[in-house]
Amino acid sequence: MDIEKKLNKFLKTNLQKIIYFLSAIVKIKSYSNCEKELVKFITNYINHQKLTKNSKIKIIKNNLILLYAFSNHQDIKLLYDAHLDTVPAEHTEKWLVPPFSGKFLSGKIYGRGSCDDKGSITSLIFCFLFLNKFQIKTPPLAFSFSSNEEDSSAKGIEEILKYTKPRYCIICEPSDLKIVYGHKGKWSVKLTFLGKTSHSSLPHLGKNAIYLGYPLIKKLIETKNKNFKPSILGEPVYTITYIESKTNSLNSIPYECSIYIDYRSVLGETENSIKNYIVKNLKNFKFQPLHRFFKAWVLDENHNLLKLAKEIYQLSFKKEAKPILWQFCTNGSITMANYNIPTIGFGPGNPFLAHQDNEHINIKDVLEAIKFYVNFSLYI
Ligand SMILES: [Zn+2]
Repeated sequence: MDIEKKLNKFLKTNLQKIIYFLSAIVKIKSYSNCEKELVKFITNYINHQKLTKNSKIKIIKNNLILLYAFSNHQDIKLLYDAHLDTVPAEHTEKWLVPPFSGKFLSGKIYGRGSCDDKGSITSLIFCFLFLNKFQIKTPPLAFSFSSNEEDSSAKGIEEILKYTKPRYCIICEPSDLKIVYGHKGKWSVKLTFLGKTSHSSLPHLGKNAIYLGYPLIKKLIETKNKNFKPSILGEPVYTITYIESKTNSLNSIPYECSIYIDYRSVLGETENSIKNYIVKNLKNFKFQPLHRFFKAWVLDENHNLLKLAKEIYQLSFKKEAKPILWQFCTNGSITMANYNIPTIGFGPGNPFLAHQDNEHINIKDVLEAIKFYVNFSLYI
């Protein structure tokens, strides 16, 4: 029986297991830094499946790596990465079903993380189990399930890249089953304006810190940052996500005001160029990055990885691939922009459902992604 037929049969006979697995991992809350229980569950699940000598499990802190067809963990041709952590879901009034129920309704699994990134985790696990079960011949592969993606610390992917240096990477975030060849960068920064307090009936004796921050608010709302070369990723996007002030009382002039900015960068932008744009013409402020800077990246359209991805797409789905760019940032910024590992993105699920109330994923997408990952493993 050829591999395609074997895989179709495998997907059919394992459908209930796939649904059970995804539902079960959605039920396990796995916020950033709290991924341990999920690692334990997946490890137990894999350990019950008769691993052959071709397969190995490696746990590093809150990260899980499955190795396949390897001789040495340093000698990995392709690394698949999906993150274990999710954003919170604490305000549940708008959810149709509780966010950690993992409910299966009309072909979809509902819950926090179902789409971002537990659908991808499920596809990768069943791709690995298929390769393992039939001892399919592939180059050395690593399937990494990384911690600390959503908190923008990138601690998980850094640990994984300390352990193994793959030749190529696939970032398995929701892409609606489309090939992704680049995305915007990301930076969160905080600006604090320092004023002077006084009685609010005598404001001229103080310096209102909120008013000191006003020129920045006005600039971010009304002007666009033109200090970049227009690129395929379009324009940088930024927004104020939080403002706080400190005052002795509600009848005092506030002496401190902090403005939090979320900045999505394009190609060519650096920490310095972004900082210069934000702080230009401001006075009496402190500038504080809230996490490391994640660079934007785009894979060259003639790169062999992208060409191969398009061929594998055609083979898997019998239609022409139309690669896209993500507007959001992923671990791809680390693999591609920091470590220079040629990277693409591909995953099941609609990226617009990520981080939303009533997040869900179609189980059909999960099955389709397994096909793509199996073919990639064969032909890389
Ligand atoms: Zn994600």
